Amino acid sequence: MLDRPAIVEPLDDDKIPATFTGNRGLDQEEPLIFEIGRLDATGVDIGAPAPVETRLGALERNAPIGLPGLTEPETMRHYVRLSRKNYSIDAGLYPLGSCTMKHNPRSNEKIARYEGFADIHPLQPQSTAQGALELMQTLADWLMKLTNMQAVALSPKAGAHGELCGMMAIKSAIAAKGEGTTRNVVLIPQSAHGTNPATAALLGFSVRVVPAAPDGTVRAQAVKDALDDDVAAIMLTNPNTCGLFEREIVDIADAIHAAGGYFYCDGANFNAIAGVLRPGDFGIDAMHINLHKTFSTPHGGGGPGAGPVVLSERLAPFAPVPFIRRKGDSLQLVEDAEGAQSFGRLTAFHGQMGMFVRALAYMLAHGGDGVAQASKDAVLAANYVRASLRDVMTQPFGDRICMHEVLFDDGWLRGTGVTTLDFAKAMIDEGYHPMTIYFPLVVHGAMLIEPTESESKASLDLFIATLRDLAQSAKAGDMTRFAQAPRLAPRRRVDEALAARKPVLRWEEKTAAI
Ligand SMILES: *Cc1c(COP(=O)(O)O)cnc(C)c1O
Repeated sequence: MLDRPAIVEPLDDDKIPATFTGNRGLDQEEPLIFEIGRLDATGVDIGAPAPVETRLGALERNAPIGLPGLTEPETMRHYVRLSRKNYSIDAGLYPLGSCTMKHNPRSNEKIARYEGFADIHPLQPQSTAQGALELMQTLADWLMKLTNMQAVALSPKAGAHGELCGMMAIKSAIAAKGEGTTRNVVLIPQSAHGTNPATAALLGFSVRVVPAAPDGTVRAQAVKDALDDDVAAIMLTNPNTCGLFEREIVDIADAIHAAGGYFYCDGANFNAIAGVLRPGDFGIDAMHINLHKTFSTPHGGGGPGAGPVVLSERLAPFAPVPFIRRKGDSLQLVEDAEGAQSFGRLTAFHGQMGMFVRALAYMLAHGGDGVAQASKDAVLAANYVRASLRDVMTQPFGDRICMHEVLFDDGWLRGTGVTTLDFAKAMIDEGYHPMTIYFPLVVHGAMLIEPTESESKASLDLFIATLRDLAQSAKAGDMTRFAQAPRLAPRRRVDEALAARKPVLRWEEKTAAI
């Protein structure tokens, strides 16, 4: 007699009964492999090994290793079921603000799988990898042209890693001027992404916060007030994390340069302006570009990703090695280049080839005008969502045009008993991944929606209609849709704070109950 797994709690607020299997229709429950695996099961038949004379002395294993085993079909099903628990951009609209979950074109995937790109190894002789080097050089050229910058480091593996790279170049440039001990402060606006202060702190800088003006942007005067001889750099995002364009960016750049500091621009939101504006024209010194945001490469759940950094002429000599240089009619990765004062190597090899191929495939498929069109469409889509919801939801900085993402606050939920979190969880029951919530921190109960250029008008219309319907329920005091949401997800409200503070990373048989 089989016990019912009973992993899923029965719904206490509606009529759906608990099922024997824990499955709900085609939403299948899936235990951990340690719970379902058997020590004697295997998906492969391996013949007994020929006798060998051991050279391990007394160190050879003399008991089974204890790893769980499954048959081949069971293994397949286990991982396919787990993969279906993941919401993805291939499954539906993914409006996570500041994350730019845009469609990953299948043509990118096809090209990335070409043998010459997919099977390349970073240690093979460079003479056999000329096409790959040519591709990296072409990608670098596109990035420099789109930004009007003088150099690019391709090796950083993510946006945050790109920040680290750019700030290491700034730190080296300051040290080269003999100011390494005196310039140890980085200016960061209140609304910044958390990775900015984390990057500065990791490199030993202290952070001085620049307040935002009531309209959500940074004033050049506020930057000037925070400037002093001890300032190494400012880290500023444009468009900023409120989805607004920083209009005083040129004055801010002039002020930081006049004070002897550098301008690090967080380019995560480049997808709003790519092909339309060149950040180099604002006077920036370094900027990372998240290929997984602007140039449609998959978000790798933290990796493998790519966050190349473009650098100004003043910072180019400090870029990480290797540099790509043309020697005769071949390309080479070199560690020493004329005038270089590199801070060293950022990663073991040269970056994420698979991401470079996908990003360049996207660029070449779109052309320069297509990249600009994508940026304009992303801004249009965000404003369409804004204009369609502004009569039911409230915006923190007044009713003004946004860039690629639209920011609402929770003013419109006041008195309803529904919080931003409840509203986001209710979206899950409707089959949508929630928008970014409670970020940026400067806005109360923030809801940051980024539809990207990928969504059709029909898709946006359904999304808008869903949010309007939920908003009306919230205002009508219909708590059933919110208080226990999500009701239809494989897991309900987990204690996220507890999970973050006390992560259980090790499975133990006795404590296996979830
Ligand atoms: C996404 C993002 C980052 C970090 O990029 P990762 O690739 O996730 O490390 C930094 N700043 C801003 C504004 C972002 O949106």
